[in-house]
Formats: sequence, C-alpha cells, structure tokens
Amino acid sequence: MTTEAQVLIIGGGAMGVSLMYHLVKAGWKDVILTEKNDLTHGSTWHAAGLCTHFAHNPTIQELRATSVRLYRDILPAETGESCGFHRSGAMRITSNPDRMDEFAHVAGLSKFTGYELRLLKSPQEVAALHPLARTEGILGGIYEPDDGHVDPTLATNAMAKVATAGGAVILRRNPVLAIRREGNAWLVECQKGTIRAKHIVNAAGTWGWEIGAMMGANVPSVPVLHQYLVTDTVPAVAERIAAGLPELPMIRDPEESWYVRQERDALILGPYEKDAQVWSVDGVPPEFGAELMAPDLDRVEHILMAAMARIPALETGGVKSVVNGPITFTPDANPLIGPAWGLPNAWMLTGSSMGVMEGGGSGWFLAHWMTHGAPPMDALAVDSRRFGPWADRDYRVEKAIECFGLQFGVHYPYEERPAARGKRLTPLYDLMKARGAQMGAAYGWERPNWFGDVAKLTFRRPDWSEAVAQECRMVSSSAGLADMSVFSKFEITGKDARAYVDALGCNLAPKSGRVGLTYALSPAGGTESEFTVACLAEDHFYLTSAAAAEMRDDDLLRARAAGMDVTVARVTDDYAVIGLMGPKSQQILEALSSDALGPWMSVRQMDVAGIPVRAMRLSYVGESGWELHVQADRAAALFLALEGALPAGEIGCFGAYAMNAMRLEKGYAAWGSDFTTERTPAETGMGFLVKPDHDFIGREALLKRMAAEDRWDMVLLEIDPAETDPYYAHGLWQGDRCVGVVTSAAYGHRTDKVLSLAYLRDRKAREGLEVEVLGTRRGARILTEPPYDPKNLRMRG
Ligand SMILES: Cc1cc2nc3c(=O)[nH]c(=O)nc-3n(C[C@H](O)[C@H](O)[C@H](O)COP(=O)(O)OP(=O)(O)OC[C@H]3O[C@@H](n4cnc5c(N)ncnc54)[C@H](O)[C@@H]3O)c2cc1C
Repeated sequence: MTTEAQVLIIGGGAMGVSLMYHLVKAGWKDVILTEKNDLTHGSTWHAAGLCTHFAHNPTIQELRATSVRLYRDILPAETGESCGFHRSGAMRITSNPDRMDEFAHVAGLSKFTGYELRLLKSPQEVAALHPLARTEGILGGIYEPDDGHVDPTLATNAMAKVATAGGAVILRRNPVLAIRREGNAWLVECQKGTIRAKHIVNAAGTWGWEIGAMMGANVPSVPVLHQYLVTDTVPAVAERIAAGLPELPMIRDPEESWYVRQERDALILGPYEKDAQVWSVDGVPPEFGAELMAPDLDRVEHILMAAMARIPALETGGVKSVVNGPITFTPDANPLIGPAWGLPNAWMLTGSSMGVMEGGGSGWFLAHWMTHGAPPMDALAVDSRRFGPWADRDYRVEKAIECFGLQFGVHYPYEERPAARGKRLTPLYDLMKARGAQMGAAYGWERPNWFGDVAKLTFRRPDWSEAVAQECRMVSSSAGLADMSVFSKFEITGKDARAYVDALGCNLAPKSGRVGLTYALSPAGGTESEFTVACLAEDHFYLTSAAAAEMRDDDLLRARAAGMDVTVARVTDDYAVIGLMGPKSQQILEALSSDALGPWMSVRQMDVAGIPVRAMRLSYVGESGWELHVQADRAAALFLALEGALPAGEIGCFGAYAMNAMRLEKGYAAWGSDFTTERTPAETGMGFLVKPDHDFIGREALLKRMAAEDRWDMVLLEIDPAETDPYYAHGLWQGDRCVGVVTSAAYGHRTDKVLSLAYLRDRKAREGLEVEVLGTRRGARILTEPPYDPKNLRMRG
C-alpha cells in the first residue's frame, strides 16, 4: 500500500522532529516522519545537551537562540512539561590575547542581534562566576548568561508530542530503503511500505550521506567520534547544592579544547582533540543505531589533564561513565539546511555537529524556507548548496578532521584554513603562483588574495596591508591584472532568452551588445542572486555571478526556465576571466587588437593577441577596465600577452583583497556579505535598477517593502582610523542605541580612508554614528558619494 504525504521527513532526531513541529505550526498537512529506530536513537539521545548563543554569524546565533526559546519557554508552555532546560549560563575563558579580540568581536555582534554576551575583562571576573576554576594565566573571557543545557530526549519528545497532536504522523522502526523520483513525486520505499511524497527531507544526521546517496545528492558530512565523561559525585559540587548555591555556569577553554558542565552533583567533561577520528566514512552500517563506542580516553588524556589543572574538583569525582558516539561534521562545521542541488522538492536538514543547540532553530529555519519559498534570514552560512560536486570524499574527510580539531579555533578575519585545498584550479593558477600569489579558497577554487609574502592572522592591521596598497597603486596609476575566473558562468540561449532574462530579476535585460545588472528576488522581495548580464545576441545571454552562488544560481536559473523556450547551461569551467583594470588598459587592448573597443557597459567579441575573447567593459574597482572572458585553454596565453604589453613595473597582478578595498572606495556592495535575501536591492542602494513595470518574482513584495517606513538603508561610512580596521559584523551605534550593522569594510588605499558598508535598521539615525570595533567605539560618518572618483570619470575615460 502506498501512503501519500505532502512531506516525508527522514530521521527522528532533534533536527527532523523540530522540522515536523514547525511545519505543523505553519499549517502543513500530511506531514510524515519516518525513523528506522525510535525517536532520538541516532546521535540525539547521548548529546551533552549544551545550548549556547555564542556564534560569529547572526544566522547561526538566531538558530541557537530559537532553540533555547523553544526548549526553555515555548515547549514547556505547550506541553505542561519541562524539557530539562537549565539556564546555568556559560563562559569561555582564555589565556590568548587574540582570543580576547575574538570575544570582543562576538560580544559586539551580539549587541546588534540582541543576545547578550558579556566580555569578562579580568581573571577576577572569571573567578567570581566560576569559583571552581583556577585563573592562573587567564586574561579573561566571555559570559553567556542565557545559555544552558537541555535534556535532548525530553526536548525532542516534546516537539513530537505537539506535532502529532497537530496531525503529524511518526512511523517508528520503519527504515528508508530506497528513494526514487516518479512523475512529480518522490517514491520512498520503507520497510513497512512505500510513501509517495511531494517533498522529502534528509534529516538523517549520522546517516545523512547515505540518505543523500539514495536521493542522488552529495552530502558533504562525515561522522567523527566525540566523547565526554561523566564523573561521580564531586564533593565541591555537592556542597554547593547543599548550600543552596546556583548551578555552575558551563565553562569552555578553547585554548585547551574542552568544556565542562555541572550534571546534578557531578561534572561532565568533553574534550575536542586535534587528530579527530572519522568513522564509517564510506557508509554507516544501517543496523547501527543508538549504541555507543567503547571509551577511548587515552586519545584525549592530555586534554583531560589540562581540564583538571584548570578545575581541580574534576579529579575528586572519579569517572562514572564515558559517552563515545558519532557526531557529523561538515567542511565548515555549520549544518546543511535548504534545497538539495538539482533535485526538485528535496531538502537537507542534516550535517549538524551541534544538532541539539541548533535543532530547534534549524527546523524553524527550514520550515520557513519550505513554506515561504525563501529562508527567514540570510542562509549563506547554512545553505546546503554551499559545497558543490567538487566536495569529494577526500575533501569532506580532511575538512571534517580539520573542523573537529578547530572546534575551538580562533576565527580570525580573513582566515584561510589549510586542509583539502586545490580542489579547483583556474587555468591561470600556475602563473598566479609564479607571480607570488597568496591563495584563498573560494568555493573550492584557489583565488589570489594578494601578491607577496605570507602573513600571519591577526585582528589588527594585517601584514599583507602594504602589498595590497601597492597593488591598488599599480591599478590606479597604470594597469593591473586579476584572475577572476572563479565567477559562476551561465549561457542562456533560445527564442525566449530576452523574455527569460527580463523576468529573471528586478531589472530588464540589456540591449544587444550591452551589459547590465539584475537581481533575482525571493517571493518576499529579498535579493537571492546578483547577475551581471551580457547580451551577446537577442537569443543569447551570458550571465556571471559570485563563485559561492554557483549551485544556488544553477537551481534558480533552471527553475525559472520552466515553460520557456530557453536552454540554461552552466559554463563556469569553460571560461577563464582576466580583469584588466587601470588607466592604461585601453592602450594595452589597442596595442593587442585591431578590433574596435566598445563603450562603457558594452560587450564585444574581439581578438586580443589573436585570441578570441568576450570583452566586457566594466569595472568593479572604479578604473577604466575590462573583464576578458576567454576559453580556458587560451587563458594563459592571453594573460602573458597582456602582461607583456607594458614594461615590467607598469603592470602587475592584484588580488581579491585589493579588489575588495577598491570596490568599497566606490561604495559597491558585494553579494555574499552586503546583499542578502533579508534585504531588497533597494535597501542595498540599488533601487535605481528596479524597473517596476514588468513581471518578476518578488515584485509586489519588493514594491511594498520599498515604500515601508521600517525599511533598512545601506550606507557607506568613513570610520575614524586606528590600528584595527573593521571587517564584518560590527555594531553601528547612535549614542546608546545599536542602529545598524557593518556588513563589509576595508582600508581604502587610494583614498586613505577606513570605509565600510553598513545597514541602518533605523534609517533616520544618520548623525552622531559610531562603529564598535573590538570593543572600542570609533566615529563614523555617512558619505553621500563615494570617496573615489564620484563622477565615474576614470571608469568611462
Ligand atoms: C558525545 C556527544 C556529545 C554531544 N553533545 C552535544 C551538545 O552538548 N550539544 C549539541 O547541540 N550537540 C551535541 N552533540 C551533537 C548532537 O548529538 C547531534 O548534532 C544531533 O543529535 C544531531 O541530530 P540529528 O537529528 O541531525 O541526527 P540524529 O540524532 O542522528 O538523528 C538522525 C535519525 O535518522 C535516523 N535514520 C538514519 N537512517 C535512516 C533511514 N534509512 N530510515 C529512517 N531513519 C533513519 C536515525 O535512526 C536517527 O534517529 C553531541 C554529540 C556527541 C556524539
């Protein structure tokens, strides 16, 4: 017998059950969850239950805060039963000055998001909050007053209770055996029968990769073994209880890589070792269920010793039990939430290594996405499509081990992690390395960040600053070359190509031979994607977008082609892109080509040094310039010809950091940091590109939000200089009110100004502004025009 479902959720852990709960709350009917064992019988039951608000990204903070609200307040009110949530508070301590910078940054962000995280500026403040911790060598820490721990089983069962009361169905002991697509539905073969579902969701946690394989999706997560030990009664804790003292706050030492929390009159100690042990990478046995691994404390002994040195009371408890179980890690330790690339109505809700503290929030986030057609907040940090097919077995294993070991790593600005590099090399990679490129990873690609010596990570002005300044000087005084091949690239061909591009976003398609920008919107009017659109012919458009948007944009472009006579082809790897920028760029092209150069914002097919190129005249850095799109196998020859067109010293390479600094001097926003699905293009300063007299997804919502009094406003700020440049997620203040947030920032070397783009959530707050950078307020003024070439004379020259 076949059962019909609107949505079938596979997996009954904290994540899957949370989605079921939130879909029912959103009014969806025929919500079925199938579980091969019983609820929580994957990783959920044995989690230590820690819940925090600490995160470097507002979306992750919101996932965590939503979970806490749910477990602490909402579910107990709905069921009349506690989820075992203890609001113990939590703290992170450190002996590392860089870590204090990191804490100051996160505490600053949390003033914008509204989740209090308080900097502890001395060992005395630490001691006052955690009397069992020794404080020798400690500089301070961060205190998280609303953190706590929950009983994961009680919380999951409470969500299940509310969801089933609202009509959801749970099928226990019903493993999924195979998944296939038939017509417009998914047919899911389970042990107890077949389920035909409109939507399927992979919430299989530790088994996420296996269920992904059944769906036809690559799920880049790997089980890693994590253990914690529970002590017997600790006399000092028992005495505190007897004296009626409050529960100890949870405490983490990121430098030594452990956490400790009170468990009744005992303590729980959890270590994260550097050489993590991956497990069952090529397939978790289907019969594996709720069981645990044998304890292996030898692996983590050095961390246990460090924890006991910090909290001597641990030694007085003895070990009562050890929990050693699998935890999934993705390549960046964030969960995979959202559509499965290339598969209709197939969703991911898996890969969470913090699936209890993120479970409640993740279910809310995906339910909103499924029911509204767009996520409730910027999804970039969690979008399941942020890893492409290039995230192969080696990549996911190496990154999982790295992430586990860096669970408590310092998150520096401009951090580049070393594991699993070189997955995608541009045709110019060797040339860039030979010119001294220091590479960064961008969606699997290696992309030059700057040219020069290796620099150490820091929260202060970085060592690469002077190299970047020189690159900017070269670009503004003569000519610079950049490897921009990492762009995502798409060809749109066919009879309906113009109608398709018109309908794609808020702007209309450019005329033949011209280049324009358009923004594809969510149904709620937020910016989904930014496309540079070149019209090569009436039936042929060439679209480029951000590297990290490749799979998202591939999905979006294909979905929007339904019912139209167009072909969408992803051609990212077919072309390389060389940015030729600077006042001498025209002279170079004229020397290498007899073809006429097009005007500003044009596209021309030309031969440059005998090599066919698509030459798009535009510049993100504010100089006269071209993006030269060239077949991958001709890119190196083109680069050498361009480089050889001027004497050495008059032309040089520039990297992504110089590009970032120069685009901020022009006030240009960037997809991925400044443009998000939360805000309309108009709020990001691109209202002049909104052409309201045509149909496009999100139009009504966009127009409504453009007229709304509470719309946000992106502003370009000049910030008082200091030894630290702002970079991302700093609060913007007017007196004692946090009125906005910085989304990107850099030092502008052509203008000698510290610049940032920031959203004002109170757009009337335009005077007396300050940005808080690492705990220090700095004066900030709104610039009414970009500080570099405001009339665009250089670009058009
Ligand atoms: C020792 C340890 C301590 C931890 N401590 C914490 C903590 O303090 N805080 C925190 O937030 N996180 C913690 N975690 C991590 C947390 O346990 C997981 O992130 C979380 O449980 C993941 O939830 P989930 O719903 O994604 O996956 P799971 O709980 O693993 O649920 C997946 C479900 O899918 C089911 N399933 C699999 N295959 C099939 C199939 N073919 N058909 C049907 N059903 C299937 C499984 O049976 C399972 O029930 C800890 C993990 C470990 C190992």
